Amino acid sequence: MSKALLYDATVCIGCKQCEAACATQNKLPYDEIAAAEQTQSEHKYTVVLTKGDKFMRRLCMNCADPACASVCPVGALRKTAEGPVIYEETRCMGCRYCMVACPFGVPKYEWSKLLPRVQKCTMCADRVKNGTPTACAEICPTGATKFGERDELMAEAQERIRSNPGQYVNHIYGVGEVGGTSVLLLSSLPFEEFGYRIDLTRDPLPLYTYRVLSRIPDFVPLGGVMLGGIWWITHRREEVAAGESGHLTKKEARQK
Ligand code: SF4
Ligand code: SF4
Ligand code: SF4
Repeated sequence: MSKALLYDATVCIGCKQCEAACATQNKLPYDEIAAAEQTQSEHKYTVVLTKGDKFMRRLCMNCADPACASVCPVGALRKTAEGPVIYEETRCMGCRYCMVACPFGVPKYEWSKLLPRVQKCTMCADRVKNGTPTACAEICPTGATKFGERDELMAEAQERIRSNPGQYVNHIYGVGEVGGTSVLLLSSLPFEEFGYRIDLTRDPLPLYTYRVLSRIPDFVPLGGVMLGGIWWITHRREEVAAGESGHLTKKEARQK
């Protein structure tokens, strides 16, 4: 069984402790200005949206069959058995296909940095691997964000709706969308009011990506070879330049 997060907006108090804990976990800056920002960004992996006295979290859904990973030509994004969709910056060549492919608009790019990376919530993959809840779930004072086995959380969400039908929209967002996600959502307001798409297929999106690409002869092998070549040349140039000047390579610079 894989792990998941269940966010129940009806018990969220909008304290934003999840935002702050996420920033700490990911070594991102967090102050009053960041707290007031109502969008996910390269420096804010999760956001608590407010509508009157109602709240809703947004974060990477860590899809079961992620479109972002399916289009990445160098395998920089990958679904793990535990649930998180992880990102390896040393593989990334900056093509940003993942940003186009994601149906939730999640991956963000560090446009202002000299050595930009794609940034997104990776479901606290290191913590999850060690059996520890995600930072946002651990800090949540009301249990609105809960960490656990996906199957168990799904059953719990069904039971919450069944025993309190007037309190919820009759839908667990993430059970079926794009083939299922590792983030499950419950809400009293329609999900689309917080920008969640309700027109998504219940098939994994990579199926569609494959169908489109397979209609373009030789796109996949040719595109893969070309992009792989660009990636190799870029990295090789950087290594040579670094060697000649005594400067650090991109990888070394990030490790500092
Ligand atoms: S929500 Fe987007 S970025 Fe996150 S795993 Fe799914 S496709 Fe990838
Ligand atoms: S799972 Fe981890 S990375 Fe994702 S929003 Fe929560 S604290 Fe941030
Ligand atoms: S920490 Fe929990 S209660 Fe506070 S805003 Fe986040 S999800 Fe809501």
